[in-house]
Amino acid sequence: MENVKIERIEWARLTGERPRKAGCNSRLGEHGLHVRPPIARITTSDGASGIGFASLSREKAETLIGLQINQAYDTESSVSEEYRFMEYPLWDLVGQIQQKPVYAILSGKNGDFKAPCYDTSLYIDDLHIDDNAEAASLIASEALEGKARGHKAYKIKVGRGAMHMPLEKGTQRDIDVINAVREAVGEDATILIDANNGYNLNITKQVLAGTADAKVYWMEEAFHEDARVYGILKEWLNKEGIKTKIADGEGGASPNLIQWAKNGLIDIVQYDIFHPGFSRWLELGPELDEVNVGTAPHHYGGYYGNFVTGHLAAKIKNFEFVEWDHATTPGIDDSNYSISNGYVNIPNLPGFGLTIEEEPYQKALKENGFIVNA
Ligand SMILES: [Mg+2]
Repeated sequence: MENVKIERIEWARLTGERPRKAGCNSRLGEHGLHVRPPIARITTSDGASGIGFASLSREKAETLIGLQINQAYDTESSVSEEYRFMEYPLWDLVGQIQQKPVYAILSGKNGDFKAPCYDTSLYIDDLHIDDNAEAASLIASEALEGKARGHKAYKIKVGRGAMHMPLEKGTQRDIDVINAVREAVGEDATILIDANNGYNLNITKQVLAGTADAKVYWMEEAFHEDARVYGILKEWLNKEGIKTKIADGEGGASPNLIQWAKNGLIDIVQYDIFHPGFSRWLELGPELDEVNVGTAPHHYGGYYGNFVTGHLAAKIKNFEFVEWDHATTPGIDDSNYSISNGYVNIPNLPGFGLTIEEEPYQKALKENGFIVNA
């Protein structure tokens, strides 16, 4: 990669569509039908190109023209901190140049690769329904749609009583939904729940006790992370013999989060796949492995994270799951990825194994994007 320079950058925001509208979480309204990933393509002086998610302005892109690839990436340290805002196109480009999938670059091994994933689409979609049993069967039917797409793990949004419903009825509905999903997906599936900080300690205990037979694998963002309260929750879980793990760290996480994880208060860390991103996770994941803490990057709403997240499993032993937010996005051909039996099957293709669909990409470039050239 000596002397290879960036010669051209294209950037556009694409629009993808989920198979069904995503409803509320405990603190926000409807998430809707669409995802809007910003996708850049960088082309080098010798004609190689890499594509990927990048939040990039034209001004920022102009500063990258003429950049030598080995200034931004080296095989030892991955994408250097300064250029991580465009780490995905850079990682993909390196994969194209080396003709290797990113997972193979990371692990040093060739061959097929897959990573466990979960269906993240079970939002609070039932607020129009008055009856809890009817609401629970709606969410259970959504879980079965995920099962039909190849999933074996499901994350359910909970915290209905935080603001959308009266507290008691909403909390009971959370319990009914979790139990109904377990009933629908069967014993060997994995169930995760996410309260987006809409619970407190007592409600968390009430819900985990009311769903003990459903064996919730992780409780995500029960409440704003707090070492004292997490300590009490941990003690209670041990006493009750409930094996649910504590997951936290998306969004505005406490700066103490990693220390709390190292102290055993948080079992699974969920920093975002875009911020701090892939290269940061390559540093952090192995560090968490050493203290037996799991890695499960957050990425809801980004579409592109569906595909790249699993490559991390090549380097992180305690990689837990890819968060899979199913959508179809004209402009990106993701057809080499598939889901079966609870895994993302990652294609044995250079880079991240995604390609541009020219016609819709060019259309988006004209409508909302830009091109900068040397
Ligand atoms: Mg979450």
